[in-house]
Order: sequence, then C-alpha cells, then structure tokens
Amino acid sequence: MGKVYLVGGGPGDPELLTLKAYRILREADVVLYDALVGREILEITKPNCVRIYVGKRDGKHSLPQEEINELLLRFAKAYDKVVRLKGGDPFVFGRGGEELLYLKERGVEVEVVPGVTSAVAAPSSSFIPVTHRGVASSFAVVTGHPNRDINWSDFAKVDTIVILMGVKSRQKIAEALVEAGRDPEEPVAFVEKATTPDQREIFTTLGELMENPPEVNTPAVMVVGKVVDIGQKVLEETCALGKL
Ligand code: SAH
Repeated sequence: MGKVYLVGGGPGDPELLTLKAYRILREADVVLYDALVGREILEITKPNCVRIYVGKRDGKHSLPQEEINELLLRFAKAYDKVVRLKGGDPFVFGRGGEELLYLKERGVEVEVVPGVTSAVAAPSSSFIPVTHRGVASSFAVVTGHPNRDINWSDFAKVDTIVILMGVKSRQKIAEALVEAGRDPEEPVAFVEKATTPDQREIFTTLGELMENPPEVNTPAVMVVGKVVDIGQKVLEETCALGKL
C-alpha cells in the first residue's frame, strides 16, 4: 500500500509553495489536483507522473467527493506516492479532512503538508495585515458560499472578517453584517486572483456593497475591517509614486 499526501499548493504564485510540497510533487507517482492549482506547479512533477484533474470544469461540478475518496484509495493500492494537491491549505475549505478520515479508516498512511492559505495570503499580498496593533487583534475566516447557513451576527465583534467563496453573496453578506451591528462605513476589500500576475484589489464599504455592489471576478477573498484602510492607503501611495 502506498502513501497519500494531502498537499497545500498555496494561493497561486508557485514561489509560495513550501519546500516540502515541492519535494513531494517531484517524487509523486500520481497527482489529483483542483481548479485553483496553477499550471506551473503541476510542471514540477516528473514526466511519467499521472496527473488527474478532479476540479470544476466549465462551470460543471467537480467530481463528487465520494468518487475522489475512492480514486485516492485505488491509487494508494497501486502506487507508492499519491498526492492530493489543493489550492491554499488542504484543511481550509478544501475537504481535506474528509479525505484524511476516509483513507485512515481504510488503513492508508496519510501525511498532510500544510499550505499558505489564501485567507491570509490574499489580504497580505495587498498590504492588508489581518491583525494590526491597536486596530485589529482578532480575525475570523468564514465561508460565504450561498449554500452555507452562516449566522453573521456571530462575527459582529471580530475585528477582521475574511470571507472565502463570498463573491456571489457579497451584497447579502454586507446586509447581514450591517444588520448584525457592523458600521456601514466600514471598509471592505476584494482581492482577486491573489499572488498571480492578474491580482486586483477592489475597495468599497459595507454600505456601498449593500446599495451598489461593484463587479468582482472569482476567485476572490473578501476582507471586512479597519485594516483594509492600511492596504488601500499603501496601494494608493504606490500608485501615485509610480506616476511621478
Ligand atoms: N484551501 C483554499 C481555499 C479553498 S475555497 C485556501 O486555503 O486558500 C476557495 C476560495 O478560496 C475561493 O472562492 C476564494 O475565495 C479563495 N481563493 C483561493 N485562491 C485564491 C486566490 N489566488 N485569490 C483570491 N482568492 C482565492
């Protein structure tokens, strides 16, 4: 029986891959990867490595989780090193935990290689510190997926709220947060395609999001909190300096 590695591929920039992930990818016999994993990262694998895409295709659903689990088990029986490669960290909304439990229950050895999660890397790479002395001493990461039932009032008192998969529901999320007591003037940032050459920031406020939500492309991380002002200020200054 081979071993399965649940590997975090980082937020996009191949240089944000860990050295461990790099080594394991080079040695892998099989790699099952998701939509958010960059091409360049796959090229690290050896030429005879079997690469299988299990993510969403043309808006269609990804392979059902049960089928991915079964595939992992079958490959583990046939190969030495099987890599399950996910964007960011495998355990941050990556369903890595389900794969771990499924494989462990069937006696498969599993190793987890943590990754740089977009929840922190997206704000960070836009000069938004998720915590900042005197401004924010807590942050929460929450899903904004339309099918998840989130009680937004639970987040009313968290300094910085980082929302993944929230683009579609951005207007509703803003409404719920204001309803829960957040200030409509509070700044919000969307960081699109973070750490890739196409990274883009959109700055707005909760109030504006409720009334006239800006266009946002996916994937994007939504950040709510005063720390957003820091990133906006730095980016505006950088932009102004660039024009000199
Ligand atoms: N395991 C991943 C998250 C998977 S959920 C991680 O730790 O990063 C998918 C969501 O992650 C997307 O909807 C988006 O909100 C966010 N995301 C992933 N990569 C991103 C990137 N490069 N830029 C912006 N958002 C990203």
